[in-house]
Amino acid sequence: MAASLASLPSLLPAPADRGGGKPVCQVQQARDAYGVEIVTDGQNWDETSLNVVLDALSRLPPHVVKQLGSRIHGRLYVLSNPDSRSLSGAKVYSSGANFYSNNDGRNELVLYPNQGTLTVLHELGHAYQLRLTPPGRYAWVFFQDEMRDFMQATGWRLVSSDADVAAAMDQTQLTFAYDGPAVWQFMSNNDRWRTMRTPSPSSSTTRLS
Ligand SMILES: [Zn+2]
Repeated sequence: MAASLASLPSLLPAPADRGGGKPVCQVQQARDAYGVEIVTDGQNWDETSLNVVLDALSRLPPHVVKQLGSRIHGRLYVLSNPDSRSLSGAKVYSSGANFYSNNDGRNELVLYPNQGTLTVLHELGHAYQLRLTPPGRYAWVFFQDEMRDFMQATGWRLVSSDADVAAAMDQTQLTFAYDGPAVWQFMSNNDRWRTMRTPSPSSSTTRLS
């Protein structure tokens, strides 16, 4: 029988007493209510940005929140820094970005400081979407029935072969075709690009980049 996250004992030691300031309170709230670990050491948070993370978590369906972590990579860590650095200190992107990473065998969501609720929700969506992929093998999500069902429902088709998927690191190395309504064509932008690039409307085959 499954226990709710909130009723499970914390797998991590209790936070050090830092004087009862707000950040500790919000970190504790994320841990207790959602099973998510907000990392504060070496990160750029303020009260507003911490509250945005809590707001985003509160808007997700409970069954999604419960699966943000995984048996494979453990609970989800949320970081905030302008350098695209994961918990290990590795610089995942060359410039500031919002992204999910399991490169180090951990579930990590790295935010550029001071993001809004919709951006945090978008990245939490990736944490859910990629929760079962092996470290650094994000493309392998396309082997999962859940993703195949989603693509079928929204009109996306994978053009690349299974061998292409097996060899790929992520979706930027794969090719897709889109048969859905026109409104969806502008979803195919690489996350780390913060300016909107629109694919050519005449192209029926679009890379998710
Ligand atoms: Zn995205």
